[in-house]
Amino acid sequence: MDVQEVLHMVGGEGETSYAVNSIFQVSLSLSLSLSLSLSLSLCSFVCLCIADLGCSSGPNTLLVITEIINAIESARSRLGNPSLEYQVALNDLPGNDFNTIFKSLPALYEKFKKEKGDQFGPCFISGLPGSFLGRLFPSKSQHFVHSSYSVHWLSQVPLEPEDNKGHIYLAKTSSASVYKAYLEQFQKDFSVFLRSRYEELVPGGHMVLTILGRKSVEDEFNRDFCSLLELLANSLNDLVSEGVIEEGKVDSFNMPIYTPCPEEVKKMIHKEGLFELEKLEVFDVNWDPNDDEEEEFKLFDNFSSAKNGVRCVRSVTESLLSHHFGDAIMDKLFQRYTKIVADHLSKENAREKSKYVSLLISMKRK
Ligand code: SAH
Repeated sequence: MDVQEVLHMVGGEGETSYAVNSIFQVSLSLSLSLSLSLSLSLCSFVCLCIADLGCSSGPNTLLVITEIINAIESARSRLGNPSLEYQVALNDLPGNDFNTIFKSLPALYEKFKKEKGDQFGPCFISGLPGSFLGRLFPSKSQHFVHSSYSVHWLSQVPLEPEDNKGHIYLAKTSSASVYKAYLEQFQKDFSVFLRSRYEELVPGGHMVLTILGRKSVEDEFNRDFCSLLELLANSLNDLVSEGVIEEGKVDSFNMPIYTPCPEEVKKMIHKEGLFELEKLEVFDVNWDPNDDEEEEFKLFDNFSSAKNGVRCVRSVTESLLSHHFGDAIMDKLFQRYTKIVADHLSKENAREKSKYVSLLISMKRK
């Protein structure tokens, strides 16, 4: 499977679309990071070039850009600097639903104009189809690169069809060679990513990445996001035992994702020596994006939470799954998955453990 050809989030704005089910609260990661990394020096440019890599299509896409621009504008006005032009590139793979983004741009420009007045901008936003695992921009042309929940995607599945039988990602019983193959693929891809961005950023330029990860080397792959994928594997295996899917089909499917721990990321950045690591934070997000932890009692029962969590996973993984298993079984698969996730959530303490672990990585180009 050619990941870069097949992978795309579910487009449009329907019930299963990524737009409606965007998992993560981007504002959280951004507010954590922007304060430190958008140093005021950025304000001294005439035109600030910003890129969002793996932008997808949905509310998060424009939210990210809005928050970045808001942060810079408030720094600029604090300093009393003259207005800045913005050139913003929204990047994703060619299969991404760029049209949905483009249609929402006039409203965004209008909003900027209303909120920020005539002193603002101008701001030029464009779409850039292509893989971030390679060059996207001319040398030293970018001031700030942002990417959320995209860089954990690998360029390919690093396994042979029978290597990880019965699973679709790293699981408790996956062999050591499977673990090694996944880690090595991540190292290869992340190295290409770092080198490409090094070429493209101006010296001193900033890059902020949020990715799925795990807490530590010891943090086994049987928790967090990995266990959510293991429950998806269980759902596929259920359909195998019912004769709906062939066993070989499941054996030959694995997710092109890697969820690194901070040490693995630090090691790579250090080894490449191209960026100064400014900050690396770990935080949790609930599987069910609507489940607000701060609430005294849970707003949703297990089944509703499972439904919400599964919709997110579906909006992200459906293109790969339907390419491999066929469109026809998708509804059946995700119904089964919802039931299995709901059963899982009803186990003692399961909800506390049902989180995505995220890494927020802030770097400065040397
Ligand atoms: N940034 C958004 C979307 C994350 S979904 C958010 O935080 O909500 C991950 C996105 O990364 C998908 O749209 C996927 O197509 C994109 N992606 C994965 N690999 C990529 C690559 N090599 N180059 C560009 N985009 C990629």
